[in-house]
Amino acid sequence: SAKRDGRAKYAVYDSAMDELLRRRRGLQDALRRDLQAGALTMVYQPQVDQDRNLIGVEALVRWTSEEFGKISPAIFVPLAEESGMIEALGAFTLKRAFEDSRRWPDLKVAVNVSALQLRDPGFTDRVLLLATEAGVRPSGIELELTEGVLVERGQGASSRLDALRDAGFSIAIDDFGTGYSSLSYLSRFPIGKIKIDRSFVIDMGRSKSADALVSSIVQLGRSLNMRVIAEGVETPEQWLRLAAAGCREFQGYLASRPVSAEDIDRLYAGETIGAAGQDPDYAPSWKR
Ligand code: C2E
Ligand code: MG
Ligand code: MG
Ligand code: MG
Repeated sequence: SAKRDGRAKYAVYDSAMDELLRRRRGLQDALRRDLQAGALTMVYQPQVDQDRNLIGVEALVRWTSEEFGKISPAIFVPLAEESGMIEALGAFTLKRAFEDSRRWPDLKVAVNVSALQLRDPGFTDRVLLLATEAGVRPSGIELELTEGVLVERGQGASSRLDALRDAGFSIAIDDFGTGYSSLSYLSRFPIGKIKIDRSFVIDMGRSKSADALVSSIVQLGRSLNMRVIAEGVETPEQWLRLAAAGCREFQGYLASRPVSAEDIDRLYAGETIGAAGQDPDYAPSWKR
């Protein structure tokens, strides 16, 4: 009967759900263990100017679980947020990135900060303490935030960002253009840099309006005295179109994939690294 079929369906649904929840719990437990053991790693993706000079790196966290293999931060960062581990994960990535940044005193090191991290009233103090402990100058650190963070109600995030800017940290808007329709936050927060989202870069050359859109973003940033960088630049054509639109800073596989701190050491020493996906004509170079 229909009733029985329904029940059977629910039974299947329940066991699939159980399975999913079990896997999720397993993943959470594994992340908690590896985080406690400090078993995650950081990689760094070069950022270059129009002459391909290395000007900065973005710190990106990596996790390979013994049990589950390589897990993307797009999966485990939200997982950490949902299971009370974001403070620990945030502390880990900030600490590592700060410590590593001392190896490259002339580079800006960008660190991603999630909305939930910034919502913590103790965030400012935590960042300042970590920076002091690691012995880094805040002027060498850029905090990357997504637009969503900045449209939240309340003054908390705003005053925390003001305090961090006053301490010398710079602030970049990640994935610009994807998060929110109002631009009013741009003047309310101490933003130094806009990162044009990869989706706009992909569209360049595919649609006529994409180039116009990117030009407008670049001009908007310029008129607000902000730096503008494009992320996810994979092809020479994208690079050239971005340059024509007035963009002067680039990040993406064309210049280099994210690489180890040791590889950044090599670049910083003026050596080449031959990163996967890299076009030698666009490889980062270091000039003193
Ligand atoms: P995001 O901050 O926008 O980072 C850029 C992502 O694009 C990175 O993915 C990077 O590997 C990838 N990417 C860079 N260039 C290219 C390219 O040319 N082509 C393509 N297809 N992809 C490119 P990843 O490392 O998987 O990070 C994903 C997201 O996870 C990040 O997006 C960020 O939101 C978050 N995340 C990563 N590391 C951290 C961290 O340490 N803390 C926090 N809170 N979030 C992090
Ligand atoms: Mg980022
Ligand atoms: Mg981004
Ligand atoms: Mg992105």
